[in-house]
Amino acid sequence: MAPDTGKYNNNDPLYTIDSFNPLPAVPFHRKPVFWASASILIILTAVSIFIVNLLEEDPDINLIQRIAYAREEIRIYFYPETCLTEPEYSVTAVSDSGFCLEIYGVTRGYSYTSNYQYGLLRNIHREFSSDTMRFTFEFDTLTAEPEISFNLNPPELVINYHSGIGEKFIVVLDPGHGGDRPGAIGRGGTQEKHLVLETGQIIKSLLSENEEIMVIMTRNRDRGVSIAERIRLSRFWRPDLFISLHANSARNRTVNQTEIYYASQRGRETARLLQSRLNREVSFRPVKTRRRGFAVIRSSNAFYGAVLIEMLYLSNTNGERMLNDSNTLQRFAELISETIIDIKNR
Ligand SMILES: [Zn+2]
Repeated sequence: MAPDTGKYNNNDPLYTIDSFNPLPAVPFHRKPVFWASASILIILTAVSIFIVNLLEEDPDINLIQRIAYAREEIRIYFYPETCLTEPEYSVTAVSDSGFCLEIYGVTRGYSYTSNYQYGLLRNIHREFSSDTMRFTFEFDTLTAEPEISFNLNPPELVINYHSGIGEKFIVVLDPGHGGDRPGAIGRGGTQEKHLVLETGQIIKSLLSENEEIMVIMTRNRDRGVSIAERIRLSRFWRPDLFISLHANSARNRTVNQTEIYYASQRGRETARLLQSRLNREVSFRPVKTRRRGFAVIRSSNAFYGAVLIEMLYLSNTNGERMLNDSNTLQRFAELISETIIDIKNR
């Protein structure tokens, strides 16, 4: 079982439902776009002040500013200008697949439904009528009634929902490429996207017997997934481990080895553990570890770090022959699964 490290505390970053920006590589204030945006912002502010003055007869703004959500938490932020005390609200219709939250005194609103593929949250329906905003949150499962609390500064309702996964050791597996991006292709036509998906699926099925571990795949079929999407999905889960699966290719066709990349100290420790485990299989040697800031591992918030494994080289004849053999993928999957269990039990 993972030690209680307080990693699910409320200070963790939350993600706004309708927008998300992956971490920028260069500090924003050093980019020219910052100064351009700043100028535009000043102009827009001046224009808005002018417009607000024109609308003086109807100065109300909507009470609700935005909604953010994390693995077992939803936060509804209010405008500090209009939310000076705790708003009136009530929770109704609690079932094991959701609940309704009504917030009263909302001056303006709109009705629509948002669908989510992340976490256990499936849909949010918003329904506005006269002075009430009614949210219906639909989940895969809820194991207890939601707990709701209100903070005044900044004004927000914090809804903790319990799905029963909070205590699990979460591993995000990221089979690279997919869809129209095949990744490396061997001389014999073997495509990286297929073998990394198969390996990921074997790891998932090996770990499915362990009830304390939950495996999330960034893709579980042959579809293209952008880097931003992989990062977003991974960060949403705040996993314990993040493992990206790849096979390599090089101009020098004599090279064939296993490489494990990391981008942080925690990732380095995980890479070392994987290295010593994978070294048990003679045919995978040499197994090398290297620091490199690939976006998917650099942006990960995985508690025990993130690694990217290049299983073998598809550009090498022997590497392609091995990766074409399901036994090789099975062996990689076994050794990776064993390492995951080791890290969980540490
Ligand atoms: Zn790749």
